[in-house]
Amino acid sequence: MRALVTGCAGFIGSHLSESLLADGHDVIGVDCFNDNYGRAQKLRNLDHARAWDNFDFVPIDLARGALMDVVADCDTIYHLAAEPGVRASWGGRFELYLRNNVLATQHLLEATRPWPGKRFVFASSSSVYGQAESFPTPEDATPRPFSPYGVTKLDAEHLCLLYNANHGIDTVCLRYFSVYGPRQRPDMAFNIFCHAALAGEPVTVFGDGRQTRDFTFVLDAVAATRAAAVRPPVSGRVCNVGGGSRVSLMDAIDLIQDLAGRPVDMRFLDPREGDVRDTGADTARATTGLGFSPSTDLDEGLAAEFEWVLDSRRSALAGS
Ligand code: NAD
Repeated sequence: MRALVTGCAGFIGSHLSESLLADGHDVIGVDCFNDNYGRAQKLRNLDHARAWDNFDFVPIDLARGALMDVVADCDTIYHLAAEPGVRASWGGRFELYLRNNVLATQHLLEATRPWPGKRFVFASSSSVYGQAESFPTPEDATPRPFSPYGVTKLDAEHLCLLYNANHGIDTVCLRYFSVYGPRQRPDMAFNIFCHAALAGEPVTVFGDGRQTRDFTFVLDAVAATRAAAVRPPVSGRVCNVGGGSRVSLMDAIDLIQDLAGRPVDMRFLDPREGDVRDTGADTARATTGLGFSPSTDLDEGLAAEFEWVLDSRRSALAGS
């Protein structure tokens, strides 16, 4: 089997690529190293995949590159490339969100039209729900994005669904909930908090810290993503992928303090625009449709991320 993984140099895409390679799949990895964070971290993310002979890296920008050849060459498409993150999606950067989330997805779907039987798994987001009205939130809740980022992910979902309805492309949209673990993006809370705890620096908490998230360990997100590629279509073709429990930010910070072995000095500021109060996935569809159940709890997953941050800091010190 030959898989196309877009966003292969990113946080989740690099883990997905390695998981496929380890199981003997050929992987064509596509990434353009956009500027949401440093190229050096993305190159490090790719190091492990690049060590496999059956990995081909193709540096294409999906928003403008020629995509037919890479799509022709694969059996399954995992579309994870995107401009992620809620807070950066305001103002001038919105253009990049439109480009990398909407236009790039439309280009890839167009390139897939000659081969509608190829399963197309799209990485969507819990951000499409916005301030959800019920918890856990089922897939048929009315999506009301609360950030420009959420709007672009919902647009891309609709593109997947309408290419399915009009052209028969075998699309499945997965709504990931707050993914964390080793290689987490540097703009994400746990990464920032782990670094601050290790450096003995204060952390800024936006809001009162009692907001909750359904944190999902990255290898659980990878397992759900791979299941979505091989299972018969899931009902509705949109599926939540959540970690299994809602935890407050303060509880997560407590765990990080335990891992660091010292208290973290917290500074509280108003919530940021676009941040929702709570998220929680109803995973019944993922359980029945994908056979998915998360296997890593927050203690274990955060310990893995903390170790990775510690190693990264040691390597950075050794190199400086
Ligand atoms: P990431 O930024 O680490 O990875 C995305 C990768 O896509 C980057 O390496 C980037 O260079 C690449 N990319 C962006 N635009 C591209 C383009 N036009 N052409 C080629 N490559 C391009 O992000 P991530 O956290 O790994 O997120 C992966 C996917 O999961 C995204 O679609 C994101 O919206 C979705 N998601 C992530 C989370 C999370 O908690 N991390 C939650 C919900 C949804």
